[in-house]
Amino acid sequence: MDSLLHGLNDHQKTAVTSQASVLQVLAPPGSGKTKTLTTRVAYHIAHEGLKPWNMIVCTFTIKAANEMKERIRSFVGDKLENKLVLGTFHGVARRYLVQYGHHIGLPKQFGIADSADSMAIIKRIIKRHDFTLDPSKARGRISKRKCRTLEERPRKSKMDVEQQEFESIFEKYEEALRSSNLLDYDDLLLRCAELLKRCPECVSNIEAVLIDEFQDTNNVQYELMSLFAQHQKPRLNRRVPSITIVGDPDQSIYGFRMAEIKNLHRMRDQYTDTQVVHLEDNYRSSGSILHAAIEVIEQDESRPAKRLLATHTTGERPILRTLPSAVEEAAWIVAEIERVTTLTAHLLTYLDFAILLRSANLSRTIESALGKAGIPYRMVGGSKFFDRIEVKTLLDYFRVISQPEHNDALARIINTPARGIGEITCKGLLEEAEKSKRSLWKFVLDIAQGRRRPATKISVQAQKGLEIFSNIILTSQNKVDSQVEPCTVADLMLHVIKKLGYKEYLQAKYPQEFENRWANVEELVILASDKALGNPGDDAMDADELIAIDGVSQSSSSGVGETLSKFLANVTLTTAVDAGEAGAETNQLTISTIHAAKGLEWPAVFIPAAYQGSIPHSRADDADEERRLLYVGMTRAQCLLYLSWPKKNSGSEATTVSPFLSPRAITNCFSKKGPSIGFLVSQEIGRILGREAPPEIAVRKAQAAIERAEDDLWPEDGEEIPTENPRWNKKQLSSDPWTSNYSSDPLTYD
Ligand code: ATP
Ligand code: MG
Repeated sequence: MDSLLHGLNDHQKTAVTSQASVLQVLAPPGSGKTKTLTTRVAYHIAHEGLKPWNMIVCTFTIKAANEMKERIRSFVGDKLENKLVLGTFHGVARRYLVQYGHHIGLPKQFGIADSADSMAIIKRIIKRHDFTLDPSKARGRISKRKCRTLEERPRKSKMDVEQQEFESIFEKYEEALRSSNLLDYDDLLLRCAELLKRCPECVSNIEAVLIDEFQDTNNVQYELMSLFAQHQKPRLNRRVPSITIVGDPDQSIYGFRMAEIKNLHRMRDQYTDTQVVHLEDNYRSSGSILHAAIEVIEQDESRPAKRLLATHTTGERPILRTLPSAVEEAAWIVAEIERVTTLTAHLLTYLDFAILLRSANLSRTIESALGKAGIPYRMVGGSKFFDRIEVKTLLDYFRVISQPEHNDALARIINTPARGIGEITCKGLLEEAEKSKRSLWKFVLDIAQGRRRPATKISVQAQKGLEIFSNIILTSQNKVDSQVEPCTVADLMLHVIKKLGYKEYLQAKYPQEFENRWANVEELVILASDKALGNPGDDAMDADELIAIDGVSQSSSSGVGETLSKFLANVTLTTAVDAGEAGAETNQLTISTIHAAKGLEWPAVFIPAAYQGSIPHSRADDADEERRLLYVGMTRAQCLLYLSWPKKNSGSEATTVSPFLSPRAITNCFSKKGPSIGFLVSQEIGRILGREAPPEIAVRKAQAAIERAEDDLWPEDGEEIPTENPRWNKKQLSSDPWTSNYSSDPLTYD
């Protein structure tokens, strides 16, 4: 017991060892909530006789998941650790549906429609039927509509024209998913809830449910939590169920996705004997970073006052800087990163830096500045690796190979590389296939193999193109099915790449950017052979693929077909956070949305574009949620925190600093000049991070080398920071966050 609880403070120990049947740990950022949850899982196993397969653990990031697995592995060994059901809500829901979905009529091989798939379907419906609704608004409303209970839905007679149009889009969207055998993100949760209501036996072995980042659960996830816990048996002197949640209302940032902060109270109403434990000590950030973050969050007057105490020393003041343009801002960030890594004599390396963005589309300027300076980086939560066209195209091939009914994926690749099948031909075929109630693949195959003459006019070249295309899919499917010559996902990828002449195609199509694009393709092959995304015999992800029933873990078979669909599901469900983890060993800096950075920490954090209109975002609806977002971003930093903004936005309009940075906060908490890093500061950073600081001589040498550059970076007279802070005006903004036109997801689920 001692070793397990070693290093925890008293409140954390109380939470870990609590015998309460329902436990809420509510605490500010960096106070060790995730650490406490992790330790409680191990405690359940080590001291309460629970087996890994008796628990469901929902975390938000793979980082937390891996940390938990590591701890649990040290208690129970590799084999048992793999039987823990641990993942995000979407990941866990998917696993139950794969295993038991047949009980609710779900086919074994369903695919997952990611945001792009959903959007493509909606756009197609709107175009075909001449509807007028904006596709992204429609998408938001579909999700909202799905998550509502039946009683809340409007009656048809009461609908206006726009509502009727929406209902029609909704029905057609659902039909399109059904016919392509796809579930979207909402379906994963809803169908899992349906399954657990109809077949409670599926979770009859579950004795403890543990959830991280509870403040961001929505109603459906809350319901799932209750359903996971529905069967728990009385054990020891504890009453059932055993539910542990950890969270922080101040970090609730998914209101726009209908996360319900009210779930905390709902839980206390539902489980009246809930024990609540508060943690107050912050182990993450320096005192001055914490001070600045608290100054921001405390502007929300409706928020109950809380205690949050720094355990580290004061450290360097956060920096607030304004620059003439976004390009100069990015260049300054890059220069500062170089300065700090040099001045600390590489106590901090690129891996220790994160640039956190309010919106993913801010990354382009920064990416280009980093590219110019040759600083390696990984993207998290934005337009990411898997969305890059050369990667997405290949993934679409594998989607079609694995699940030929995936009409949208097929339509995207049927003419890539070009094979004479024009857009009009493709559209005609899709419509004909839909009319004849066949999948596009079956329809195309019939034509390619001469069994059908389509009404759509097809050129000789297009006919040949269809033959080539179906040949590639068929030979690949044969490889997947081959018992004689079993292959891995990576083998399959190489086969497809060769068959497509993909390298030559990329070379011809993108002569300037070929090297980058080809590097991404190579990266994808590496990922496919990487444990993290589900290779045969891979233990690392097996925890995501195994659902243990009554103590016996059941693997979902081993062929490359299963592995391929597992790979694709992981890719689709993976947050970029997960994808980023694959490359975490190398010395890369992180670019992430603030949303995707939740729960994580870095020694040095930059938050650029801290101006009114960016944070708070001009299209966001809830000022308090935007403020919490900034708070989440700031509290990711351990030693150094930089906020900055360009004087002009992308539309060349003058900007003002974010109103969340009050004149008082600016004066009391921020500095205009970067930290003057010498030996003492390096030592302090080392102490906060628990790292050995470089020797004085190394720091002095670095200082001497950089002196001139430093003057350029931090001019003596500095810029005056405008302190005119327009108050937030809710009325200017759209009233429904779901209808605000978010151009890209801040985060892919799971
Ligand atoms: P967030 O709200 O941002 O998710 P959190 O409350 O989950 O934060 P953790 O990530 O669990 O916080 O912990 C923050 C940091 O503090 C981690 O590096 C963790 O290892 C460290 N930490 C937590 N508790 C202690 C402790 N008792 N002693 C020393 N370090 C601790
Ligand atoms: Mg956490």
